[in-house]
Amino acid sequence: MSDRAPERVPILLISCYELGHQPLSLAWPQALIRQAGFSVSTLDLAVQPFDLAAARAARLVAIAAPMHTALRLGVAAATQVRRSNPQAHICFWGLYAGLNAAILLETVADTVVGGEDEAALVRLAEALASGARPAGLWAGALVDGRDRPPLARPVLPVPDSRGLPPLDRYARYVSKGVARLAGYVEASRGCLHTCQHCPIVPVYGGRFFVVPAEVVLAHVRQQVAAGAEHITFGDPDFLNGPGQARKVTRALHAEFPRLTFDFTTKVEHIIKHRALFAELADLGATFVTSAIESLSPLVLERLQKGHTAADIDMALDILDNAGLALRPTLVAFTPWTRLEDYVALIDFVEARGLQTHIPPIQLGIRLLLPPGSPLIHAPDAVLWLRELDASNFTYRWEHPDARMDRLHGQVAARLALADERREPAPETYAAVRALALTAAQAGPDRIARTLPDRLPARPDPPRLTEDWFC
Ligand code: SF4
Repeated sequence: MSDRAPERVPILLISCYELGHQPLSLAWPQALIRQAGFSVSTLDLAVQPFDLAAARAARLVAIAAPMHTALRLGVAAATQVRRSNPQAHICFWGLYAGLNAAILLETVADTVVGGEDEAALVRLAEALASGARPAGLWAGALVDGRDRPPLARPVLPVPDSRGLPPLDRYARYVSKGVARLAGYVEASRGCLHTCQHCPIVPVYGGRFFVVPAEVVLAHVRQQVAAGAEHITFGDPDFLNGPGQARKVTRALHAEFPRLTFDFTTKVEHIIKHRALFAELADLGATFVTSAIESLSPLVLERLQKGHTAADIDMALDILDNAGLALRPTLVAFTPWTRLEDYVALIDFVEARGLQTHIPPIQLGIRLLLPPGSPLIHAPDAVLWLRELDASNFTYRWEHPDARMDRLHGQVAARLALADERREPAPETYAAVRALALTAAQAGPDRIARTLPDRLPARPDPPRLTEDWFC
C-alpha cells in the first residue's frame, strides 16, 4: 500500500439538516472525493437513523454545518461518532463551521474547514492517508486560526447523489393542492452583498462565484431523472448573476418545458431587474423567496439590507404583475425592533394579504449572533449584547425594552400552540398581533380590529412543504 493510499481513509459524510431537501452538502463533496479515489458513504440524519456500522468503519467523518440548526444537530452527531469510534478524525465544514471554529475545535472537532470548500476535504483525506495528523483550522494546509483561509474559485463537478435517500423522502413542491417531488440545485455560491446578519458575508466578503451552466443543467437532469417536477435554485441570491440566471433557466425550459422552479433574491434585485420577471415566469418560475426581514428603517439600516419599506411594496407589485408569488422571510425580533415596528410588520402582512405567504413561525424569528458576526461590534452593542453562549453557538442579547423579550416568549408559545392545532395562518397572525398590541397597552378597540377575517388573505401560494428555517 502506498503512503497516500485512499484505502486507508474510508470517509463518512454526514448531513443533519438542509431545509428539507436532498443535501448538496453530501452530493457535492461525494463527487470530488470519489474522483480522488476514496471510498465514501453518506448519511442524512434528517431522514435516516444514525448508522453505527458506517461510523465505526470511517477514518474521516466530515459533518456539514451549512446553517445554525445543522450545526447544533451536527455536534450531537459528532458526539455519537466519537463514542462509537474514538479513532475517527472528525471534521466540521460549511458556513457555520468556519464561524464557530474555535468552539468546535475546543469540543468535538479535530479540524474545521471554513466555508463550503469540498476540495479542502479531499486534501484533508489525502493528508490523513499519508499519515499526517491534521488539527485546527484546515484549508489544505494548516492555517493560522486568526486568518481567514484563502477564498479561491471552487472547481465544482456535477454533484453525485448516488446512495442518497430518494427525493420522496424530502420536502415536496405544492401548488393548487397538488404535491410533486422537488429537486434542489445551486447555480452560484457566495453573494455580492454584505448584509450584516448574514453568515455568507464573513466567508465570502462580498464575492460570488457562478457554477458552470453545464454543471447546473447536468444536475437538473439528474434530479429530473430522479423524479423531480420542480427545482429550487438554492443560490444565496439567484440574481447576483442575472446573465447566468437567464442562461440556465432558458436552457432548463427548452429541455424541460413543464418543469417549474423557484429561487431566492433580494428586494433590491427584484426592483433592479424588474424587466426579467415576466420572462422568468414564462420559463417556469412560480415563486420567489426574498429576505425582507423588517419594515423598520433603523433595523434595515443596521442590517444593511439595501432596501426600504417602500421598496418591499414595490417589489411585491413587480412580482404580482409577473404572476409570481413572493415568499418573504423575516427577522422579526432584533435589538432595534420596537413594539410599534412589530405591529406595523403584521399590519403590512395583513394589508397585502400575505398571511398565507409568510409562515407564522417567522413572526418568532429572533436575530442570531454567531461568533464573527459584525453586529457584535455595533456602536450601541453595549446596550444589548451579552456573553457568548458557546453551547448554542450564539451571543446572547437582551432588548433594551424588556417588553420585547417578554413578547418574544409569548409569541413563541403562541406559535407552538398554533402548530399543534394546525391553525390557519390568518388566525395566528391575528392572535400574535393582539399579543403585541396588548404588550403596547393599546386600547380594546384597536385590539378588536384584529379579528381573523379583518382582511382577506391571498389564496395559498405555491410552496415547499418545509418552511424556511435558519
Ligand atoms: S443578499 Fe442575501 S445572501 Fe446576500 S448578503 Fe444579503 S442576506 Fe446574505
